[in-house]
Amino acid sequence: MTTQPTPAEGTCGRCQQRRVVHPAKPNWGHVPKLLCTSCWQRYDEARANDDYVDWNDAFDNASDEEIVAHLATAKD
Ligand SMILES: [Zn+2]
Repeated sequence: MTTQPTPAEGTCGRCQQRRVVHPAKPNWGHVPKLLCTSCWQRYDEARANDDYVDWNDAFDNASDEEIVAHLATAKD
């Protein structure tokens, strides 16, 4: 059994769709406070891989070194 509270409906802070939303994890950094299930999972997966979901996320949360490294790998 999970101990999560009953999901609430709201507007996802990333895709702006009105859906069941979940609070973002504090250790994700500067991200929308409420995320729909698919966006929440994208952040969860990205952080599990020390990655970012998109450029906005990277600019908000990555260090300069990480952005440079991301650019370097994106060129390949
Ligand atoms: Zn969403």
